[in-house]
Amino acid sequence: LTIGVVKETKPDERRVALVPKLVERLTRRGLRVVVEPGAGAAAQLSDELFTDAGATVGDAWNADVVLKVAPPTTSEIERLSRGTVLIGFLAPLTNVEEVAALKQAGIRAFAVESIPRISRAQAMDALSSQANVAGYRAVLLAAQRLPKFFPMLTTAAGTVPPAKALVLGAGVAGLQALATAKRLGAQPTGYDVRPEVAEQVKSVGAQWLDLGIEAVGEGGYARELTEDERAEQQRRLTEAITEFDVVITTALVPGRKAPTLVTADAVRGMRPGSVVVDMAGESGGNCELTEPGTDVVVHDVTICSPLNLPAEMPVHASELYARNLTELLELMVDSEGRLALDFSDEIVAGACVAGADEEVN
Ligand code: NAD
Repeated sequence: LTIGVVKETKPDERRVALVPKLVERLTRRGLRVVVEPGAGAAAQLSDELFTDAGATVGDAWNADVVLKVAPPTTSEIERLSRGTVLIGFLAPLTNVEEVAALKQAGIRAFAVESIPRISRAQAMDALSSQANVAGYRAVLLAAQRLPKFFPMLTTAAGTVPPAKALVLGAGVAGLQALATAKRLGAQPTGYDVRPEVAEQVKSVGAQWLDLGIEAVGEGGYARELTEDERAEQQRRLTEAITEFDVVITTALVPGRKAPTLVTADAVRGMRPGSVVVDMAGESGGNCELTEPGTDVVVHDVTICSPLNLPAEMPVHASELYARNLTELLELMVDSEGRLALDFSDEIVAGACVAGADEEVN
């Protein structure tokens, strides 16, 4: 079985789906790895590092299994042969047409977003591994944009109080953002509509902001708020936000537009020089004034909306992602290194978004 590692074409995508360390692990399982020339270059992984680990450099699009990071474009889908297994971020809840095109092209597509978040699949959880990177980078971005120190300083020239950072949405990205803000010396506070995360927020050394609104939905994820709840949440947050120098927003509801947590009024209430980093830009943003992909300054408040934070730290983001994919791949091959898709396994069945009914050879 050949595993193809292709070069990402999306602008600014610097990650690669497999790293040399894991090529060795896959070749030991009897798999052959083919890497497209330059596939790892933006993640500091030369073709030579891949060949040293046992891969060959060549046409990776023709492999039996193609590993990718970003969802394939139309022209990338055309490069895949019928029957190819494709694994990557496919955004199946929003990229409905692209997933239909994959089905039409006879591709068996596995979306890492659709892997059930059960304990057995934890090592395959690419949403979590990349959210961790993103949460860390968001804090660094905020620290750079803030015209103040993050830590408290006591110097001969005076004492500087620590910056106050509020993180809205305390999932994987939010908890990493809180922990990173704490390490940089800021005073972090976390907020979420899932009350069970209060303990996790406190465990990373942050304070918990309780606004008295709970919204737990299917599978432990947050549900969308009702209109009344949303209005009440925005009112209470607008009041709370005035205290903070930095607001980092991460709130998402799977398959829905991101909730608006920071209104234009809330931004108006912030101190000049404050910073908002909106990590939900790709899903419409958590701040009313967000312009996805750019920085805007409104009422002297900087609002940043980076669209692909994990790609800004491609070395570790690729390493973690490659580990996630390797674990998933190992579930899909037998001890002889042959493709053995078992659709009675909830991980394989859950991840498959196209071609599950094709004959398996
Ligand atoms: P996410 O990226 O979908 O959302 C980020 C956070 O935003 C979540 O904590 C959510 O509660 C919060 N949020 C949504 N709407 C909000 C609103 N209106 N106001 C405030 N906050 C709001 O979430 P995630 O980080 O991918 O994961 C969160 C869920 O996944 C949790 O249930 C977590 O326990 C679960 N999870 C399970 C595993 C596992 O068991 N293997 C691994 C990772 C995550």
